[in-house]
Amino acid sequence: MRIPLLDLQAQYLTIKEDINQAIQKVLDSSVYILGPEMKTLEKEIAAFCGTKEAVAVANGTDALVLTLKAYGIGPGDEVITTPFTFFASAETVAQVGATPVFVDIDPVTLNMDLNQLEDKVTARTKAIIPVHIFGQMLDVERVMEIAARHALIVIEDAAQAIGAEYRGRKAGSIGNAGTFSFFPTKNLGSYGDAGMIVTNDEHLAGQLRMLRFHGCRIKYYHEEIGYNSRMDEIQAAILRVKLQHLERWNQGRREKAAYYDRHLPQAVTLPGRDPNARPIYHLYVIRTDERKALIDRLAEGGVASAIYYPVPLHLQRAFKDLGYKAGDFPAAEKACEQALAIPCYPELTIEQQEWIVKLVNKGE
Ligand SMILES: *Cc1c(COP(=O)(O)O)cnc(C)c1O
Repeated sequence: MRIPLLDLQAQYLTIKEDINQAIQKVLDSSVYILGPEMKTLEKEIAAFCGTKEAVAVANGTDALVLTLKAYGIGPGDEVITTPFTFFASAETVAQVGATPVFVDIDPVTLNMDLNQLEDKVTARTKAIIPVHIFGQMLDVERVMEIAARHALIVIEDAAQAIGAEYRGRKAGSIGNAGTFSFFPTKNLGSYGDAGMIVTNDEHLAGQLRMLRFHGCRIKYYHEEIGYNSRMDEIQAAILRVKLQHLERWNQGRREKAAYYDRHLPQAVTLPGRDPNARPIYHLYVIRTDERKALIDRLAEGGVASAIYYPVPLHLQRAFKDLGYKAGDFPAAEKACEQALAIPCYPELTIEQQEWIVKLVNKGE
C-alpha cells in the first residue's frame, strides 16, 4: 500500500468538474488579474472568518510582508515570533528591515509560550506574529492583552489554520490582522500560489490594496513604493469552489486525527491539545525519540512521513547574524528532534489508517 503524506490528486477527482468549469469561465472572461472572482472570494473569506475585510494577495509570504509594511514596521523595529514555524513567519520581518525576536514554544502545544512572551518586549518592539502551528490556534485574546499593555500590533500567521477556532472565534479574526496562505498543500489550497489578509481595520485594508498594486489607488498615480502582489483570477475561482468544501474537509481531518488519538497513544507522543482550541489538523504531528526508526518503518510499509521542522529558525544559517545559539530555545529544539507528520487528510481510507497505525505501533 502506497500512502502519500497528502493526496491532492484524490481531492481533485472529487471536485474535478466544478474546478474545470470555474477555470474555463475565467478563460472565457478574459479578465485575469484584479477581477470579479478575486473580489468575490475576498467577501467570502471575510464572511467565513467573521471579519469586515479580506484582501487577496499573491501568496502567504506577501500577506505578511504587506501587512508589516502597511503598519509601518521597518528598520530599527523588533517583531516577536516563534522559532518553531515555517521560515516565512520570520523571514518577512527581516525582509521589511526589522529584526525578528524569538520566544520559545510551549512543549505541549508547540505554539509560542505566552508565559515567556512579555519578557521579550523591549522599547523597540512593534509587533507580535503568533503562528497557529499545524492548525491549532493559540490564545490570541491573551496575546492581544499583552500587546495592549505595550501598544503592539498583532498579526496572526494563520497560514496553517484556516477555519480553526479558539473559544468559537476563527483563526485570523482576533489579531489586528490575520494572514493566510493558499499554497497547494494548505487546508484550503490553490493550484499555484495565493494568499489573503483578513482584518476589521478598514484603513489597513485600504493600505494593503494600495501596496499590492504598486502603491497606487488610482491607476498611474503612485503614492508609495509598493509591490506587484495580486491573486490571479484562476486561483481565486479555484479557491471559491474549494471554500465550499472547507468545513467538511476540516471535519474529515478531525475524524482521522481522532482515530489516531485513539489508536496511537502507547507508541508515540500525540499532538498536544489546548482544550479551548478546535484544530483543523493541517498536519498531524506525533513526537518520538525513535524518529529515524519510525520513518524507516513507515517507508518500508509504503507510508510517507515528513519532518516539520528539522531546524528551528534561530539556528537557520540565514539568521546567524541575529546571534542565537543552540540551547537558547530548548523546547523548540526538542520539537525539531522529535516531530514527525503522518498522513492525515479527508480522503484517507480506514484501511490506510489501520495500516499506518499498525506500522507506528510495531515499535512497541
Ligand atoms: C505556508 C506558510 C507561510 C507562507 O505561505 P506561502 O503562501 O507559501 O508564501 C507562512 N507561514 C506559515 C506558518 C506557513 O505554513
